Amino acid sequence: MSAQSPLLSSERAELKRHIREVPDWPKPGILFYDITTLLQNAGAFARLIDLLSERYVGQQIDVVAGIEARGFIFGPALAYRLNAGFVPIRKPRKLPSKTISIQYALEYGQDTLEMHADAVRPGQRVLIVDDLIATGGTALAAAQLIEKTGGTVAEMAFIVELTFLQGREKMNPYPVFSLLQYDK
Ligand code: AMP
Repeated sequence: MSAQSPLLSSERAELKRHIREVPDWPKPGILFYDITTLLQNAGAFARLIDLLSERYVGQQIDVVAGIEARGFIFGPALAYRLNAGFVPIRKPRKLPSKTISIQYALEYGQDTLEMHADAVRPGQRVLIVDDLIATGGTALAAAQLIEKTGGTVAEMAFIVELTFLQGREKMNPYPVFSLLQYDK
């Protein structure tokens, strides 16, 4: 890993202060971590991108792959700083050219992620980015999609990790990094 400044607990608390917690959204019993309040603060957003880019600069990241939709917010800013390309991993039927897809299980039913078949070349090192890891189902599907292209998942990076849902355990063998952890 490149030289990184450790994330102090005071700094973690300061970033968390910018994340709005919305109870019972989108349905009763869910505490929603709303990152739009962090984005709208210039200093907090800059610090976030600085922290992520410090971690990955020098790691030969060829492509940052963002998961729809909030991975599209952080991913391109990070890709710019890493001198990497950006690839969108999308919900079904959004991409115009030839796609590859993967289905994954939700709590009820299933969902699908797609990407352009030629978006990642074999051997490229890919950093997957999303705002939050909960159960990990989405991120695991994204990693498997990258593997289908022959790309290598260098790491998966999240702003928020809901540690009590133990999504990280499901990600083996893919390395996981999160900036802010919540244990309930
Ligand atoms: P999962 O597949 O369970 O890890 O869910 C991750 C996806 O759902 C991410 O794209 C998140 O943006 C979204 N998500 C799940 N739970 C929450 C939550 N409590 N607050 C905000 N976003 C969430």
